[in-house]
Amino acid sequence: MAGPPEGLARAQWLREALERAAHEYYVLDQPALSDAEYDRLFHELRALEQAHPALRAPDSPTLRVGTDVGASHLAKYAHLVPMGSLSNAFSDEDLEGWAASGRDVAGDDFDRSGFCCELKIDGASMSLTYRDGVLVTGATRGNGNVGEDVTANVRTIRDIPLRLAGSGWPAVIEIRGEVYMTFDGFERMNEERVRAGEPVFANPRNSAAGALRQKDPAVTARRPLRFFGYAFAVPGTTTLPFATQWELLETLASWGVPVAPHRQLCATLAEVHAWAHALESTHRAELAFAIDGGVVKVNALATQADLGSTAGGREPRWAIARKFAPDVAETRLVGIEIQVGRTGVLTPRAVLDPVEIGGTTVTYATLHNFDLIAAKDLRIGDVVQVKRAGEVIPQILGPVPERRDAAQPPSPFVAPTACPVCGTPVVRIADEVAVRCPNERCPARHLEELIHFTARAAMDIRGLSEQRVRQLLDAGLISDPATLYDLTEDVLAALPRLGEKSAQQLVAAIAASKTQPLSRLLFGLGIPDVGEETAKLLARHFGTAEALQQAAPTEIEGLHGVGPSIAASVHGWFASESNQALVRALIARGVNTVEPTRAEADGALRGLKIVITGTLPTLGRTEAKELVEGAGGKVTDSVSKNTDFLVVGADAGSKLDKAKALGVEVIDEAELLRRVGR
Ligand code: AMP
Ligand code: ZN
Repeated sequence: MAGPPEGLARAQWLREALERAAHEYYVLDQPALSDAEYDRLFHELRALEQAHPALRAPDSPTLRVGTDVGASHLAKYAHLVPMGSLSNAFSDEDLEGWAASGRDVAGDDFDRSGFCCELKIDGASMSLTYRDGVLVTGATRGNGNVGEDVTANVRTIRDIPLRLAGSGWPAVIEIRGEVYMTFDGFERMNEERVRAGEPVFANPRNSAAGALRQKDPAVTARRPLRFFGYAFAVPGTTTLPFATQWELLETLASWGVPVAPHRQLCATLAEVHAWAHALESTHRAELAFAIDGGVVKVNALATQADLGSTAGGREPRWAIARKFAPDVAETRLVGIEIQVGRTGVLTPRAVLDPVEIGGTTVTYATLHNFDLIAAKDLRIGDVVQVKRAGEVIPQILGPVPERRDAAQPPSPFVAPTACPVCGTPVVRIADEVAVRCPNERCPARHLEELIHFTARAAMDIRGLSEQRVRQLLDAGLISDPATLYDLTEDVLAALPRLGEKSAQQLVAAIAASKTQPLSRLLFGLGIPDVGEETAKLLARHFGTAEALQQAAPTEIEGLHGVGPSIAASVHGWFASESNQALVRALIARGVNTVEPTRAEADGALRGLKIVITGTLPTLGRTEAKELVEGAGGKVTDSVSKNTDFLVVGADAGSKLDKAKALGVEVIDEAELLRRVGR
């Protein structure tokens, strides 16, 4: 039963439009259709197919949501061309050894064509068979000759083309590549599993492989799987219209197949070494997905054919995996520390038996949150797998259950019910995995709170580094922000590593911050959800801290750019007795709680002569001039002893030298903005 001809044409048109959109979205990262438009076309196609099943083609995007097409679960699939594996090189020397044996076989040709260097994606190998450009089979590697047919699952992977783009593909072709998961996708998936009370996956590779072998393709469709192609095979003898691996990758890309980034054509083995080192030391940490090394391939396909494979083995002589030092090690989890942050969130941190991973000793690893500890069933005393990738904080993948003492297993970790610092019972915010200490005056919050209060965008107290704040806290000289204003030169000068001069400067800087506008104070107070911009909005509208404190949530919410949740947060903050006490303490010490009106700020530079030089970070020259003039100042061209101050940006020239010689004050853009109340 065929559909109506116009239905046929329409279905084909819809398939093409949807696939183009998926490619633009997933591969090119340049969506051309809105989500709503995509959904509309998608539903139209599905309705059409349901009404006329004969219209459903094997390349229909409706199969991407995991329609069970009745394929028997994990049937065997005999690869038309066997899938190989790779031998490994763990060092530059290993790679030189590989080249030496290659030269024995191929002579000078080995080096002549250069080397195509690619990422070694740490996922699950995949072979995609296309007939006349249409995806007909997706199969795992299996034993290399026979794999498992996972076609229905593979069709749900959005960046795998259901129909090849471009032209020139052989009638039957097996595209080889790797199915993987991004770190982001992996973490989001695990968070959802935690929320659903399901066990989490240990790493992106295992979960990708698991997702591929799902019974229900609809489950696979919900897993964030992606694909990179790196080769293809054509049964029989076919002459390809190109001669190198590099062109092969470009050809794959032209057919709409995603190809991994950071590939490089290297002329010499020395360049290959440099590429591998850069990959291991730098790029690896920046990638959105896991790799376990690079793959080096002799670029000329003719030389590849000469080199062939190792006798009997499946390992080609023309390619080799350049593996990195392992970034996973096993060690004992000796404890779980709990840190309390500025907003009161309790964060667990793993304390480990020190272990060396990739040349660095690792003692701590992040644990994210308590639900994750439970989901991974981590117990203090367990041997755990720790992963360190690049500069990222080491992560705990999970326990090694085989190494748990079966006779006397450690007891499960119990998440704290009270703040470890002040003892207040913790609360769990709805819809969040985090638990927090609700006590706004919890001493554990002071460090973070003070660092935020003194920050440049807040009260801008120069000379108060994090180290210094810690030192003052440890010495019991400060606690909450108001106590900063009680510091005296004598007290400070008595501290180790702080001279008389620095003590003087520090006290002066703290005192100077008392006149900061209300907007900076509000931001500095660290009210949840109140960033710099919101603080400015609130300060300009309400004018004083008192007015804001008395405002009803509905009044706050009425402000453009302030939603109900921010309003509730601000109102809640001011409603707290301890926060009110802090504000009173600040006022008692002379801290300004008023926002200068525009008119006042307008006159901030009245009568001053100002010179601007160099390129300012955000303001254009005209903008800066208007700003100064708007505040009553005058911009002049050259520095003289009558100049009040010089504003410098990048690449300042002789004016800066002159200002220094004459002792004219020099400030930057941020300071200028501050002085005009912006
Ligand atoms: P191994 O599993 O260690 O033997 O390594 C061989 C596997 O690496 C292949 O089967 C592929 O699945 C995978 N692989 C990942 N990236 C590439 C790549 N760019 N070129 C070839 N193989 C790759
Ligand atoms: Zn507390």
